[in-house]
Amino acid sequence: MHIMAQETVWDEAGSPSLKSYTISNYKQLPQVQALSEEVRFEMDVVASVLPFKTNNYVVEQLIDWDRVPDDPMYVLTFPQKNMLKKRHFDQVAQMIKNETPKEEMDKKINDVRMELNPHPAGQLELNVPSLKDGTKLYGMQHKYNETCLFFPSQSQTCHAYCTFCFRWPQFVGMDDMKFAMREGEQLAQYIGEHPEISDVLFTGGDPMIMKAKMFRTYVDTLIDAKLPNLTTIRIGTKMLSYWPYKVLSDDDAAETLDTFRHISDSGLHLSIMGHFNHPVELSTDAVKSAIRKIRATGAQIRTQSPLLSHINDDADAWVRMWTQQVRLGCIPYYMFIVRDTGAQHYFGMSLARAYEIFTSAYRRVSGLARTVKGPSMSATPGKVLINGIPEIGGKKLFSLRFLQGRNPEWVGRPFYAEYDEKAIWLDDLKPAFGGRFFYEEELEARYSGARQLKKD
Ligand code: SF4
Repeated sequence: MHIMAQETVWDEAGSPSLKSYTISNYKQLPQVQALSEEVRFEMDVVASVLPFKTNNYVVEQLIDWDRVPDDPMYVLTFPQKNMLKKRHFDQVAQMIKNETPKEEMDKKINDVRMELNPHPAGQLELNVPSLKDGTKLYGMQHKYNETCLFFPSQSQTCHAYCTFCFRWPQFVGMDDMKFAMREGEQLAQYIGEHPEISDVLFTGGDPMIMKAKMFRTYVDTLIDAKLPNLTTIRIGTKMLSYWPYKVLSDDDAAETLDTFRHISDSGLHLSIMGHFNHPVELSTDAVKSAIRKIRATGAQIRTQSPLLSHINDDADAWVRMWTQQVRLGCIPYYMFIVRDTGAQHYFGMSLARAYEIFTSAYRRVSGLARTVKGPSMSATPGKVLINGIPEIGGKKLFSLRFLQGRNPEWVGRPFYAEYDEKAIWLDDLKPAFGGRFFYEEELEARYSGARQLKKD
């Protein structure tokens, strides 16, 4: 099936407007109408549980409809049957077929969602900080000493949703689990109270969904607070992949770039943490031009992505991504292992295979691309890197190392786990030489402390 782009607004001179497609209107797309009824029903089922949103740029510029259903960008944004486990899929499919009343259906769907580990890595219990006066800041997380995460209330969505996203509960109305904060002042106060913080990471959803004026207000509050410890503002975003027009032709494109420039001019470093999952996202004129414009403001772009079955699970894709990123002046930063939530069974792969893909790609790129760290798990105790699979005393092991830890003392300390071909996450691993991993006792103590605090 080959369907041409509906309009020719996508070249550099064009100024397209974002059109979102969700469960309520995606069947309007001619590309979707050409799919079988069965496939559309499967999408309805999966999208009842997991979030679904794509847009006209992704549909017309990034997905190769001749390659559907295997096209990586299609899998990245359109729900696929196997993203739900069979029993969950069958349960929801049956309810839709039986036209189950909405209230009953919502309740059952919520039960399914709760079985998908909606908040991995202790996010709800362990990361919520407070001001010195005791005010809890639910729109922030402070997991690692030097970096705090800030979730502006206006950035709780994205230009499209990634089907693997670990933030999925925020997008499906599990409201009590939604992190959001309105007050830039509280953020500045918190950073002022914590001299160990040097970096603030704006995250969401996607903070670049926010109107430039709103974003500018937050930025001005931080800059005006003249926080001596603050060195860096980071923005975690996928706008370069899903909507580069945010800095090219949207109404507030100039203002957004101006705010970036303002950050750099104020003496802070601005790092755009660009999220790219596949080389095709780096291929359009629009993304290349957006990268140029951002870099011209003094900002640096660092790139990251999880390693995903069905999307980028071959070394070649990573070689192309990292090489193209360096060519465009971006710095490869992280390769992550897909988190233990949502559709991990669909996107995940064994740690052994992840290590093999990483090293095979890493060996084939220039030293300038070897700034990338990985494969790394953002797990409850911290960011754990698979450092190697050595043989010690005739025994194959995983050599692991903390890149970040809840306790900074853990960082850099190597530790070993028994080699397990099937392991897909830290929790699957056993210490190589018996006993427990060195951090476990302390982590448990922190967990029970945090649970106690929550009860209080
Ligand atoms: S853009 Fe980021 S926050 Fe949004 S769905 Fe994708 S991974 Fe999740």
